[in-house]
Formats: sequence, structure tokens, C-alpha cells
Amino acid sequence: MPRIYIETFGCQMNEADSQYIADRAASAGYEIAAKPEEANVLVLNTCTVRDNAERRAYGRMNHFKVLKDADPDVRLVVMGCLAEQDRDRMQQVAPHVDAVFGTSELVAFGDRLTEWQPALQAAQDDTVDDDVAFERALLMPLGGSADAVTDAFSHLRGFVTVQRGCSYYCTFCIVPHVRGRFDHRPMREILDEVAAHVASGAREVMLVGQTVNAWKDPATGEDFGDLCKAAAALPGLERLTFISPHPKDFTEKVIADLATVPQLNARVHLPLQSGSDAMLRRMNRKYTRAQFEEKVELIHRYLPDWAITTDIIVGFPGESDDDFEATLDLVKTGVFANAFMFIYSIRRGTPAARWEQVPAEVSSARFARLVEAQNAATRAYHDRKLGTTVRCLIQGPSKKDATKLATKTLDNVTVIAPMPPDYDEALYAREPWLDVVVETAHVWGCTGRIVRRAERYAESGAPVAQPVISLL
Ligand code: SF4
Repeated sequence: MPRIYIETFGCQMNEADSQYIADRAASAGYEIAAKPEEANVLVLNTCTVRDNAERRAYGRMNHFKVLKDADPDVRLVVMGCLAEQDRDRMQQVAPHVDAVFGTSELVAFGDRLTEWQPALQAAQDDTVDDDVAFERALLMPLGGSADAVTDAFSHLRGFVTVQRGCSYYCTFCIVPHVRGRFDHRPMREILDEVAAHVASGAREVMLVGQTVNAWKDPATGEDFGDLCKAAAALPGLERLTFISPHPKDFTEKVIADLATVPQLNARVHLPLQSGSDAMLRRMNRKYTRAQFEEKVELIHRYLPDWAITTDIIVGFPGESDDDFEATLDLVKTGVFANAFMFIYSIRRGTPAARWEQVPAEVSSARFARLVEAQNAATRAYHDRKLGTTVRCLIQGPSKKDATKLATKTLDNVTVIAPMPPDYDEALYAREPWLDVVVETAHVWGCTGRIVRRAERYAESGAPVAQPVISLL
């Protein structure tokens, strides 16, 4: 059977697209490869949101050329935002790329995989697999750390795209230019896809959209709150979550609806970007700081236990010291459990790319102060978990230490714990809910000890054998 390797950069929208392609590939008769050197089709799902992501994608294309040189039957496909943006340039810079599919061409890509399957199967039948894999392994100078759609636990989390594109045109963002304006999917289609993930063993389903809470059913006008309530009513759905909302679209009605859905994970990502009204206007964010704080207040009122996380850009063109201090003041209140913080980087094709830039040393100095303030808030949030037992969904062996398991709490905190002696991949994929006693807190997450394992979120679970600790 031909094998496909999918490497994903960027946001959850790309994760969802990769999952769609993996599903299409599986139904067309492909196996999912764990490593690029084992695959007949290599897929790079790319991102353009930051300059760095773009450079990494081109670097990865060059790495994959080694595999194509070793085996000319291997096909390299680039999909995602960079494919949309750089389609013509890519043919010149990376002529070894066999096919390019933009963000609106997923179905065509799935169809192409079906077309390719018989030829790849025939080529594989004529090949001594192990020799080729060995030869490729010798040639592998591959680096990179992007997530591949591969492991035994990936089916536990299902991604469902509720809308494509965005119509908001923030002045720093390339998304509306490469993904187009809002295109909302009908509720029925979304619910069918959620149900399909649940039937395939997903314990948690994430609704994904660039501005997910702006979703409206194209025919009925039902809103995001209605969608979450309808999804939660599907039989067997254990946990529901979503990314990324826009502060402007959190009406009181939507937030009140969310409060009626017990399956929702207790966290919301509320991208601030800046705490200064002048910067919010220049960014075309469509809310003021006071309006942002009203949304926070609504969330605290209706969803008092929910963690709020955010995105912040430092050094946006025109940012003065006072603008930055306004952002820093808000972060110092500790309102955010965590934050993705970035120094502004130019995105070709966006208005802000043409504006006068803040000197790099000024942005770096501000960034360091912001990170310090947010790290203190994040650490304080994690400290509050010390000594408690948290129910987590397994992610798999820790990438840094194979004797440990990585897990995620419902509020998206990473908790690392020693692998219990009865660890077995298939067993833990069937019973993936782990109760972990939190023993230490860090900025990046927590460490702890797994004490129970359960098949369903709502079950109390069975005790897990503890690792023997030698005191000698
Ligand atoms: S809301 Fe702004 S930042 Fe988010 S996808 Fe739309 S344009 Fe980009």
C-alpha cells in the first residue's frame, strides 16, 4: 500500500485541512507514514502568517528534494496558505514540487491522491521496500519539528472547519488575501462531520475557523452559540472546544449559550493584539480596549472558571512607548492564563508592510518586558494547579523524554508524567483520559503523577500502577 506523510505548519485550520487529506488518503488506499523517508507522497501543509514560517516551508521543500532524488517515484505536494500565495514563484524556486494545492482546493487534492494510487501501488510492488527505505534513511539530513499526522493518539482529537476565510482585513494579516472572505459551512454539514469524528473515536472535537465565533448558518442565520449547543447534543460527544474567536463577535447571547454547554472545555482564546486604542485602530481590529475588557467581564460573569488566553503583537508600525505600556499594564493584571506573543514581522501584501517600522532593538526590548510579565502570570496560573488532580487527555510519549507521557488538561495546559509500568499504546489509546496529580509547576506547563485511567471523560476510572522509584 502506498504511504503518505503529512507535515503541518501553522494554525488549527491547517491541522483540520491535514486531517481531511489524511482521511481522504486512507479511503483512497494509502497508509499514513510516521516518517518522510517511509512515504511515497510527501505533503507540506504550509503557513504564511509569519516570515519565519514561510522560510521554514521553503527549507523543508529543499530537504525533501533529497528523498525525491533518491527515489524519483516519490511525489511532493505543497498545500496551504503559502501554496495559495506563492503558486507561481514556487515553480521557479522549487521546481521539484510535483503539485500545489491552495486552501480552496482540498477536494481536488483528495481526488488527485485517488488518481495517483494505482500507479504508486504498482511502483511499490516492483520495489524492494526495505532497501529503498534504508537508502533514504542514509540520505536523510532532515531536520524540522513540525507535527505530522501520524500517531496512535491523533484520532482522539478531531478538527472540524466551520468556516473558511475571513472578511476582517486586519492590517497585519495575510489570511483574507490568501484564504478569501468568510465562507460559512451549513450547520448540518458541520454536525455530520463532528458525528463522524465521534464515531471514529474522537474524545474531543475542536471547531476551527479564523474567526470561529463569527460563524452563521448561511440559510438560517443560526449563530455560533446555536452551533455549539447543537454539537453538544450529538450522542457520544465527550468534549468540545473551538479556536480562534474574535473579541468583536462574542455577543452576550453567544457567551450565555456557551455557559449552557457542559461539554465545552473551560478555556477561551481571546486575541488582544494590543492594549492601546491607537494601535487597535491601526490594526483594524474593530474593537477598543474598553470593548475588549467588556468581553472579558462577560466571560468572567457567565464562564467564571474559564481560562482566557491571548495573542499579542509587539512593535507594530507606529507603536509608541505609551502604546506599549498600555499593553503591558493589561498583561500585568494577570488576566491571561497564557499568551502567544510575537514581535511584528512584515507580511508581504498587507498594508502594515508599507508603513514605517519600529526599530528592531526597540521591539526586542519591549518584547522581553512583555514576556517577563506574561511568564509571571502564566506561572501563577500553573501554580494554582499544584496538589490538585487534573483530568487530562493523552497526547503520547513526550518528545523530549520517551520515558514520560505528555497530556493536556481541558484548559490546554501541558502536563508531563512518568509512563506507568502498564503503559501500552493500544490500551492507552482506548482509555485515554488520565487523572494526574500535579506536583511541580513551570512556565511551560506542569509535571505530575498519573493515578487513574478512564475510557470515558465522565467515568471515575481505574487506578494505574505506579513506577517503582529506586531510592538508592
Ligand atoms: S480577524 Fe484579523 S487576524 Fe484574524 S484572520 Fe481575520 S484578518 Fe487575520
